[in-house]
Amino acid sequence: MRLFEYQAKSILSQNEFQIPKSFLVNTQTDIQGAVNAVGTPFVAKVQTLIGGRGKAGGIKLFDTVPPAEQWCNEKIGTFINGKKVEKILIEEAVPIESEYYVAFSLDTQDREIKFLFSASGGVDIEDATNQLFTYVVSLEYGIDDFRLLEILSRANVPKNRWSELICVVHKLYEVFIKYDCSLLEINPIVWTKNEQLVIVDIHMYIDDNSIPRHPFLKQIINEMPNVYPQNWYKTNHGFDTVMLNPAGSVGLITTGAGLTMATIDALQELTIQPINFCDIRSGQLKGDPTRLIVLLEALKKVPTLKCIFVSIFAGITDLAEFVETLLKAKNQVNLPESVDWVIRLEGNNFEKARVLLEANNIFVTNSLETAIKRIEKDVVLN
Ligand code: GDP
Ligand code: MN
Repeated sequence: MRLFEYQAKSILSQNEFQIPKSFLVNTQTDIQGAVNAVGTPFVAKVQTLIGGRGKAGGIKLFDTVPPAEQWCNEKIGTFINGKKVEKILIEEAVPIESEYYVAFSLDTQDREIKFLFSASGGVDIEDATNQLFTYVVSLEYGIDDFRLLEILSRANVPKNRWSELICVVHKLYEVFIKYDCSLLEINPIVWTKNEQLVIVDIHMYIDDNSIPRHPFLKQIINEMPNVYPQNWYKTNHGFDTVMLNPAGSVGLITTGAGLTMATIDALQELTIQPINFCDIRSGQLKGDPTRLIVLLEALKKVPTLKCIFVSIFAGITDLAEFVETLLKAKNQVNLPESVDWVIRLEGNNFEKARVLLEANNIFVTNSLETAIKRIEKDVVLN
């Protein structure tokens, strides 16, 4: 999961990094109070989970409060690169002498951590790839100072900045490991006119698999379920769902990531739009309908919902037990009459499951093809 700049900076300040003084504001906060805390001049930075804010007009330098008040009022509630602005960070301005780019990135393919450095940090880093230096960090020995020195020298970084840069790189690597990051990108880290090294912007991505290890992440997820919906379902209810299309017509309750992706492909080939990706993990339900209720409640909010498609391939799960649980959830959530239910089941105790569903007038088949034909009739022909 990606953290907001202000969250990542709060982690850095807990770990004794040099970062500018800052104050988070929303519609209710008064800017004057924030500026009193950070001083002038100051920078206002919209907090969104998308890069390139500077170029998209999401960052502005101010000397006085009134124009900043106006700017913040205009920005909050708008969309920048498709993401809604809800909070703005008011930050002490840094007098920039040079901007550098420093990053650690986890390469899961090659199972290694890469260090990246460029002496041309800032908003145009994407165009400066020829000046990007990288090296693979040894998981056994950690950072190799000789490699860093070599990079700083080849990048023509003035010598008086080397020791501080190397010190910060070490500390960033510690943070990368401690917080199970998949990417930690500092762009820019700034050498100031008064000869200090300051972290001005940070992108921090934490490996979702490590969320159970970091209680503060669970807290962030629960404070912002709309920002981290996928993590919210996983952390609080133990299953995976990704909302793909808020204007889709078919809600999926499916098991197995591969089977679900194949199902989504099959639907889209018929120009039917699934609302969500899902891996409900039917084996873990054990008679408790909560997970299904949570998902059905979310699907119920989609005004274009026409059909619930349940597709379960059960090796060990007892399908009859699953159907009983499903019926409990269905009775509790009460979807509109117009929403059709299509159930495709395959595996253990299918016959009993079929009888149960048919007794409740619900369509059931063990063929994916037949199920999809029925959905097509529901969605395309109606
Ligand atoms: P991004 O566009 O989302 O990556 O946002 P950044 O926080 O990296 O800011 C973009 C650019 O704005 C930086 O590369 C700087 O050039 C400039 N900038 C940001 N903060 C300051 C500051 O405190 N002082 C000055 N002079 N420039 C800043
Ligand atoms: Mn940046």
